[in-house]
Amino acid sequence: SDGKQARVVQPGGWLGLLGGGQLGRMFCHAAQSMGYRVAVLDPIADCPAGAVADLHIRAGYDDEAGLAQLAERCSAVTTEFENVPAASLEQLALRCQVSPAAGAVAIAQDRIAEKGYIASIGVPVAPYAEIRSEADIDAASASLYPGILKAARLGYDGKGQARVESAEQARAAFASFGSVPCVLEARLPLEFEVSVVVARGFDGEVVTYPVSENVHRDGILAISTVPSPRASEDIVRRARAAALQVAAGLEYCGVLCVEFFVLPGERLIVNEIAPRPHNSGHYSIDACVTSQFEQQVRVLAGQPLGSSDPLAASVMLNILGDIWFQAGEQAAEPAWGRALQAPTAKLHLYGKTEARRGRKMGHVTCLGADRVQAERSAAQVATALG
Ligand code: ADP
Ligand code: MG
Repeated sequence: SDGKQARVVQPGGWLGLLGGGQLGRMFCHAAQSMGYRVAVLDPIADCPAGAVADLHIRAGYDDEAGLAQLAERCSAVTTEFENVPAASLEQLALRCQVSPAAGAVAIAQDRIAEKGYIASIGVPVAPYAEIRSEADIDAASASLYPGILKAARLGYDGKGQARVESAEQARAAFASFGSVPCVLEARLPLEFEVSVVVARGFDGEVVTYPVSENVHRDGILAISTVPSPRASEDIVRRARAAALQVAAGLEYCGVLCVEFFVLPGERLIVNEIAPRPHNSGHYSIDACVTSQFEQQVRVLAGQPLGSSDPLAASVMLNILGDIWFQAGEQAAEPAWGRALQAPTAKLHLYGKTEARRGRKMGHVTCLGADRVQAERSAAQVATALG
């Protein structure tokens, strides 16, 4: 929290990470290029971060021996995975420096706590009702329809969201989710979506990144463009201010992303927050002075924050496993050579051994002196990859 003295970890020291996915892999790259060593805790043998970490502790997120080994090796530990048990973070915090704090992660991993917190600091969220029982659905306002029922916690096999037109459909969806706690949210007329990455140090020093405009396909991020084509200067200013408010209210230490909806009349609504670097901030690796992952390293190590200033305009394209299957039923290698013919395209592949439809395999960031140039490069890459 504010004024708390962070233990400084100097380059050469060990940093710990819970979770071995692509976000962890990019954290490792940033940490190692600054001379740090990284220990990753993840149960999966060939996970993306395990392949590049200096030490891979193969254990579950609640495995006491694994957590003890991580705490013994590392002076400071963070997470790339928001569904890590809060109890594990608390257990680690007894032995080493942990950020973000368990309390902040607990809020971000539960939609009920998250919406309640955001509304409590005066930042608007979509109209919603907490749903813990069928009676809550019966009591919910009719103005929430057409709506979306969202399971409060993630990790239900990508399910956990259903569009509902009526209380009857909401009851059916609630039952199909196993009657777990949910939020029922009004479906809003989105003009577009933006996000802001914010980094906040132990001493309260804070930076926000440029606003990214995000296009989703089938609920998965597809494209992030910076600067945002549609956000006015006023939206940019308000989004960055709201992101700062969210981080400060949590006394947050680390990297956080705030996702927004832009509604008619330039109304800005917070959709959700992620207590870690975010897919919509990957552009910062190639297009900013300090990437979101380097910033995560700096906070964790108690070092000063770097500049988040952009060096170029960028369009980031996610690479999903689907393109491995385009040639037919058999997985084939996509046309990397043709994609790399775009000279400002920066390819990032996460080293995942198996391509699956809807699985994030990598991304390409296309740079330009301005947005139009970046978009031209992205069009070339998109054509090459189909
Ligand atoms: P996830 O945790 O899967 O990212 P989100 O709650 O962010 O789930 O929803 C994913 C996407 O679904 C959003 O980015 C947005 O495009 C759409 N969406 C979610 N909630 C609403 C809503 N209340 N009204 C309209 N669209 C929504
Ligand atoms: Mg989202």
